[in-house]
Amino acid sequence: MSLQYPSIIERNDTVQKKGHTQKYQPYFLKNYQKMPQIKRLSAQQRFDIEVVARVLPFRTNNYVVDELIDWDHFETDPIYILNFPQKNMLKPQHYETIANLLRSGTSDAEILPVANKIREELDPHPAGQLTKNRPELNGEVLKGVQHKYRETMLFFPSQGQTCHAFCTFCFRWPQFTGIADYKFAMSEIEPVIEYIRQHSDISDVLFTGGDPLFMKTKVLAGYIEALLEADLPNLKTIRIGSKALAYWPYRFTTDDDADDLMMLFRKIVQSGKHLAIMAHFNHHRELETTEVKRAINRILKTGAQIRTQSPVMKNINDDPKVWATMWQRQVEMGLVPYYMFIARNTGAQHYFSISLERAWKIFREAYQTVSGIARTVRGPVMSCYPGKVQVLGVDEIAGEKVYMLRSIQNRNPDNVLRPFFAKYDPEAVWYDQLVPAFGEDKFFVED
Ligand SMILES: *Cc1c(COP(=O)(O)O)cnc(C)c1O
Ligand code: SF4
Repeated sequence: MSLQYPSIIERNDTVQKKGHTQKYQPYFLKNYQKMPQIKRLSAQQRFDIEVVARVLPFRTNNYVVDELIDWDHFETDPIYILNFPQKNMLKPQHYETIANLLRSGTSDAEILPVANKIREELDPHPAGQLTKNRPELNGEVLKGVQHKYRETMLFFPSQGQTCHAFCTFCFRWPQFTGIADYKFAMSEIEPVIEYIRQHSDISDVLFTGGDPLFMKTKVLAGYIEALLEADLPNLKTIRIGSKALAYWPYRFTTDDDADDLMMLFRKIVQSGKHLAIMAHFNHHRELETTEVKRAINRILKTGAQIRTQSPVMKNINDDPKVWATMWQRQVEMGLVPYYMFIARNTGAQHYFSISLERAWKIFREAYQTVSGIARTVRGPVMSCYPGKVQVLGVDEIAGEKVYMLRSIQNRNPDNVLRPFFAKYDPEAVWYDQLVPAFGEDKFFVED
């Protein structure tokens, strides 16, 4: 009897169709009417896009539109909702303000300041992103670096501050609006290297954005080779946060510089550093195309590991079955489930948010149905001002109904994994709505 290996992942590195390059066709407000599926959208749905996309950035592409969205049921399709602006993503008064301007034929130039004012009301920088966690080197602020947790430094390369498509829930949405004040990035790596040298506790550098894999390989390689050549003994792990596997897997297969990217990955691994691709998947559907399987296969062959994360969101993945299926499939494909987040308090949060209790129940139900191999995932987690706060559950202690919480990450390492308690509130969707339980006047995790 011969043993059949599963065909889900072809263990073959030469999957490139010779000479074939998939052409990247982005769609945004100016040209989305050109996509082949446009006739499916009613006049009202198109108008909603026109209105909402004035405030929240809109971008998708031919892979998402042709391969991921189920156009027979697009109105409830999670990937459609993930990319296409929906009327209720704006609050009614904001929607009406922009809608009225459009109806009366107001020019783009006149709409822009109104849209910018609404953006300001959407809390563009939650958790003190612009003012907190900004490190200095010799008295100068490093504009594209965040350093909140001792071991891990975030780097925002300037050329990586956009994505192959935009998630409608994105908490980094202000970066894509073209407003210079919101930008958070730098293109010089030398000060970053010096900073890592001076902070010997830093073991991880996380390239983030936007999507750093939107950058050409040449540009990314410039940064990474400098890091490797600097020969920093404390630097153990290079992480790259990316949604390219879900939004443009050709980045790893048929793009002109896909092979160079694989070579760069190999080079990192061969230098002795751990390379972790922090992949962003919101739904198991994003793992089902032939192209994403090829892409994952190629990445794993370089020796890199892929860890996965996503927020839990109404209208997209607020269903334990979706999560269990997603984690299970990820494990089958060689990926490591890492974080389930709670939707951040910015942008269209009201459209996506679910209560903390419900997020915990979804996590728990999904977790119960997968084996320990998939239980590497931690959640549900709020990435908020004091750190990464995990909701451990709801319980009654000494006659008081409470949320049990703990910090998985905290500015102060001593606060990590010490349980704390908040009053139970069935409506609470975010940390700042929580009140300490048992008559305490503050959460110690903020110290
Ligand atoms: C999530 C996060 C990290 C990484 O945390 P890990 O738990 O190590 O994955 C680092 N810095 C900031 C600001 C973060 O939000
Ligand atoms: S891929 Fe990431 S950074 Fe880009 S829009 Fe989506 S969540 Fe935001």
